[in-house]
Amino acid sequence: MKREYIVRNLLSWFARHARDLPWRRARAPYAIWVSEIMLQQTQVKTVLPYWERWMRALPTLSALAKAKPERIHKLWEGLGYYSRVRNLQAAARLMLKRHDGRFPENFTDLLALPGIGRYTAGAICSIAFNQPAPILDGNVIRVLTRLFGVRGDPRKKRVNTTLWNLAEALVQQAAKSSATRACSHLNQSLMELGALVCTPKQPQCGICPVADCCVACLQGRVEQLPALQPRARSTERRFVAFIVRKRGRLMARQRPAGVVNAHFWEFPNTEVGFRETDLNKVARQTLGVKPVRLEPLCTIKHTITRYRITLEVVRATVNHGAYLSSAAGRWLNSHDLLRKPFTAAHRKILRHLQIILP
Ligand code: SF4
Repeated sequence: MKREYIVRNLLSWFARHARDLPWRRARAPYAIWVSEIMLQQTQVKTVLPYWERWMRALPTLSALAKAKPERIHKLWEGLGYYSRVRNLQAAARLMLKRHDGRFPENFTDLLALPGIGRYTAGAICSIAFNQPAPILDGNVIRVLTRLFGVRGDPRKKRVNTTLWNLAEALVQQAAKSSATRACSHLNQSLMELGALVCTPKQPQCGICPVADCCVACLQGRVEQLPALQPRARSTERRFVAFIVRKRGRLMARQRPAGVVNAHFWEFPNTEVGFRETDLNKVARQTLGVKPVRLEPLCTIKHTITRYRITLEVVRATVNHGAYLSSAAGRWLNSHDLLRKPFTAAHRKILRHLQIILP
């Protein structure tokens, strides 16, 4: 009875309050898949312009499969977690090969594709194909732990399994409903409620469509749920990047395959200890030549996952004719610098440089 009530209320709330998001209008599995991958670890308002740009540039699976890596990296530049975009293209190529270019509708076939885990396969099956597949992301975890009063850390296997079971029970219940696209809308309503009403701080229980059967609300435990253990403390790291100029061009390098931010571009840089003061030595190691002069340009603070990064940017003047090893990078003019995909921290340098570049 409770499940039926929850599903009915969520569906009716979603029909009235769902945000008008472009991928909801599009409804095609390709559009939904791209949006779901972009939305991992990223907010809707950040994703919106990226998704619009992506769909204009690569509107089909086949366009994505055939796109040059530099193009997809440029379209993804700034969204972070770049393995997502490489997996997206690898999966598109497999879909062309294994499924004749059609988007598989089967959960197991989707799960076999790179970058598609249980959550994404469930999101595509339910949202695009209206199948009763459960989903569990951060928003849904928050809603379900509060709604059902689930104790314990949701990252722990036992609690996580309980939450997947609850998500499954709700979408199965929705499948019995006569409402239009009930499985699709039920899953989206859980995500939407978590994003708009059942927020991490100051949830709006007063306007929540399931408040009268919410365990956390009835027991006054809303603030304590979900009972997430604090994450490990972040680690501080320091890098020094060198800006070297030659006849209006700047030296930049592409990160190799298999490392974080693979294939993205950056200015030559090295990680150093916080006590390091000999920047001449660091410049020599990074560029392969002894600089004539070093001048500090700016300092950029950047956070990636659990790393808090300080990036000191230094202009390095080298002797005219000095040989810079190919490991240091390539000379790029301003047109190329703007066209290449740069990592987020180095894009900030680029922005800074555009002010001072002639
Ligand atoms: Fe979340 Fe409050 Fe609704 Fe419970 S009543 S689901 S805590 S918003």
